[in-house]
Amino acid sequence: MNNSPTVLEIDTSAIKHNLRYFKSKIQGTTKLMVVIKAYAYGSDAIAIAKILENQQVDYIAVAYTYEGIALRKANIKLPILILHPQIENFELLIAHDLEPNLYSLRTLNHFIKISNSKYLNAYPIHLKINSGMNRLGFKEKDIENLTSTLQNTKHIKIISYYSHLASSESQNEIEFTNKQISLFTKITDALNTNLFIKPLKHILNTSGIINFPEAQFDMVRLGIGFYGFGNSKLETSRLKNVCNLKTKISQIQTLKKGEAAGYNRRFIADNQTDIGILPIGYADGINRNLSNGKGFVYINKFKVPIIGTICMDITMINLDGIKCKEGDEVIIFNHQDHILDMAKINNTISYQVLTSISQRVRREIV
Ligand SMILES: *Cc1c(COP(=O)(O)O)cnc(C)c1O
Repeated sequence: MNNSPTVLEIDTSAIKHNLRYFKSKIQGTTKLMVVIKAYAYGSDAIAIAKILENQQVDYIAVAYTYEGIALRKANIKLPILILHPQIENFELLIAHDLEPNLYSLRTLNHFIKISNSKYLNAYPIHLKINSGMNRLGFKEKDIENLTSTLQNTKHIKIISYYSHLASSESQNEIEFTNKQISLFTKITDALNTNLFIKPLKHILNTSGIINFPEAQFDMVRLGIGFYGFGNSKLETSRLKNVCNLKTKISQIQTLKKGEAAGYNRRFIADNQTDIGILPIGYADGINRNLSNGKGFVYINKFKVPIIGTICMDITMINLDGIKCKEGDEVIIFNHQDHILDMAKINNTISYQVLTSISQRVRREIV
């Protein structure tokens, strides 16, 4: 069993808190899909899915077929939407009871062909509508083609239509977002009329739930909010941080004045200085941009600077004025603010800090 001191703790009570919060934001009849792509935003998709099975969640979503297969192999029974399946994996997807997003005539026709040849009975699929983000999906001009393609298919069944907002977090793009919402409504209403069907509709991600609750339709897709991040300081303060990254001091080195530490002697001691050596490096997800005083860790609430160049498996910290000993706990992050600080220094967003924590790091559910 892996007992490494470097661990990403996943806080179950924070998860439950965040779920309760978002459920309170939507109507009782609105279904909830939780997005657990990319190892549940860098945490542990299987562990999270097991928790979700007991939390009245209606759906889970992952990006690729193999992420869904891993969940099925772990005996997860919830319906699973595959957001970005590839035709090469359709057979496997069907074999594992996964529900594809079909986002183009190419993917739709290919899926229909397979479903016909296998005599599938109303196999659940989802249709992606491109309402303005121009990533995946069908456009308004495809309505006719979609109608004729879908008219006589008994082997598949459209469970939902969905679309994705490009700027749901932005107050400057409200007009554009509202246009996306109305175009989504228009296209899906036309399909309903043409095909005499009424699948679920959904368009909101986390920021959408916060900023455009009137567009919750039949379901919402909760991602980053589930892990503790809203789209403002205030919203984030109402959520709890789910992923806490910790390690322990492996060794303390005392440098004399003028001595250097690490590759290329990037840290040189001004005075006698104690430095801490941590068993975590850039291969674990600590971005090298945090080297040389840019990033911080936390020991007993004290902010401790990272010094020298972060190595593949080791990070060094300056223990000047910090009371600690070898084996003491070091927090890399255990609050949203720590993650947001890291993201800022790395010129990125919380999503990337979380999803960068590599699979080498042990996960623990607490
Ligand atoms: C990742 C993703 C989400 C979740 O987005 P958040 O901003 O993390 O809430 C929702 N829908 C789609 C299609 C996605 O790819």
